[in-house]
Amino acid sequence: MSTESLASNSDSPPSRVLIIGAGHAGAATAASLRQYGHTGTITIVGDEDEHPYHRPPISKAYLHGDAEADLLRDPSYYIDQNIELKLGRRVESLDLTNRTATLDDSSEHGFDELVLATGARARTLTHQLPERGCWSLRTFRDAIGFRSVLESRSRIVIIGGGFVGLEVAAAARSRGCEVTVIEREQRLLQRVASPHLSEALTALHRDKGVDVLVNAALHEIVASRDGGVEAVILEDGRRLPCGAVVIGVGAEPRDELLRQVGAECDGGVIVDSSARSSLPGVYAVGDVTRREVPGYPGRIRLESIPNATEQAKQAAAAITGRTVPRSEVPWFWSDQYDANLKIAGLLAGSSRTIVRGNPSSGSFAIYHLDDADRLLAVEAVNAPRDFMAGKKWITSGASPSIDLLPDLSVPLRDLVPA
Ligand SMILES: Cc1cc2nc3c(=O)[nH]c(=O)nc-3n(C[C@H](O)[C@H](O)[C@H](O)COP(=O)(O)OP(=O)(O)OC[C@H]3O[C@@H](n4cnc5c(N)ncnc54)[C@H](O)[C@@H]3O)c2cc1C
Repeated sequence: MSTESLASNSDSPPSRVLIIGAGHAGAATAASLRQYGHTGTITIVGDEDEHPYHRPPISKAYLHGDAEADLLRDPSYYIDQNIELKLGRRVESLDLTNRTATLDDSSEHGFDELVLATGARARTLTHQLPERGCWSLRTFRDAIGFRSVLESRSRIVIIGGGFVGLEVAAAARSRGCEVTVIEREQRLLQRVASPHLSEALTALHRDKGVDVLVNAALHEIVASRDGGVEAVILEDGRRLPCGAVVIGVGAEPRDELLRQVGAECDGGVIVDSSARSSLPGVYAVGDVTRREVPGYPGRIRLESIPNATEQAKQAAAAITGRTVPRSEVPWFWSDQYDANLKIAGLLAGSSRTIVRGNPSSGSFAIYHLDDADRLLAVEAVNAPRDFMAGKKWITSGASPSIDLLPDLSVPLRDLVPA
C-alpha cells in the first residue's frame, strides 16, 4: 500500500480536500481537519438533503414521537468553519488523473486530496417485492416513512435478526404493533454476538411479545390486491399475514467510486491505519472501509459510530501531516426496550466465555478470552462499569482474574493486579 501523501507543505498552497458523503465519517473528517489546522478548502458532497445527522436513532428514537433529524452540528458550524456543504448532490464518477469529481448535475469539482465517506447501503433481497409496504431503514427519510406504518399499528414481519432488525422490533412493540422477527440462522445476531447474548436478547424480545422465529428462511412476500403487503411465506410453508415488512439483512459498502478507479477493494475499500487507500492522496473512512484492527485477525469492516469518528481523525491527521492517533479498541452500542448493550472488542478468536451477573436480572456482562486467557471482548447489557473496565483492560492488555470474574462481590477494580 502506498504511503505517498499529497498533503500541503510550506512550499505548496494549502490543499483542496473533497469529502464524498455527508454522514458521520464525512462530517467528522471535515471537523477534524479544521481542528488540526487545515487551511485549504474543504467541500463535502452528500446525496441526502439533510445536514449531517445522527444515524443510530433511525431504528430507535426517530421511530417514536415526532423527532426531527438530530443534527451532528448546527448548520452555522459549517459556515463558521468555512466548510462548503453540497447537499442533495451525488458524486457520479472520479477522474484521478485530472483530480476532478463529476456530480449528478454534471458539474465538476477539483480536489487535491479525496476522502471517500460514502458509508453503506441496506442490502436488498433477490425476491420479488410488492410495490409498497417493504422497508429498509438506512436514512432519516426511511424512518419518517416507516413511522407512519407504526402509527397505523400494522402487523409487521422483520426479516433478519441483526441489530437493526431487533431495534426496530423493540420500537414497533413499544408502539403497540404485532411483530414477528424471522432469522434464517440458528440464532439471532449469529454473526456479531455470542450465543449467551443471543439467548438473552431472544428471551427479552419474546418476553415483550415479539414472535421470534429462527431457522426461518423467507420464501415469498405476497402482495395484496392494492400492491401492498399481504403476507410472508417461509420456506417451510408457514404463512405470516402482515401489513408491512422490514428488510434488515445487513448493509453493503458503497465503494464503487473507488473500485472504478482501481483502488484496492475487497468488500469495502482497503485502508491502512491512516485511512489511506491504495491510491495516492485518496483516503476512505467509516462503513465503506475494511482494515486491520490491532489484536484481531484479518481485515474487518466495522459499522459503528466510534469507527467512523476514529478513522475521520486518522485521515485528518494524515492529510495535515500530524501524528496519526493510535487505533482504538472497536466498540458499539445498541438500545432495545430498556436494555442498553455495549460491546468492546471483537469476538473473533474467542475460546472461553465468562458471565458476570445474571442474564435474567437484566444486568450482566459476558467476557471473551482466547486460548492464552487474553481478554478479547466484553458484551455488557445494562452494565456500563463492566463495559468501561473491559475496554480499558483490552486496551492495556491486562487480564482479569478468571476465577474471580464471575463473583459479583469482588469489585471490578480488584480483578486486575495493580
Ligand atoms: C438504522 C441504523 C442504526 C444504527 N445504530 C447504531 C448504533 O446504535 N451504534 C453504532 O455505533 N452504530 C450504529 N449504526 C451504524 C452507524 O450509523 C454507521 O456506522 C455510521 O453512520 C457510519 O458513518 P459513515 O459516514 O461511514 O456512513 P453513513 O452515515 O451511511 O453516511 C454516508 C453518507 O454518504 C452518502 N453517499 C453515498 N454515496 C454518495 C455519493 N456518491 N455522493 C454523495 N453522497 C453519497 C450517503 O447517502 C450517506 O448520507 C446504525 C446504522 C443504521 C443504519
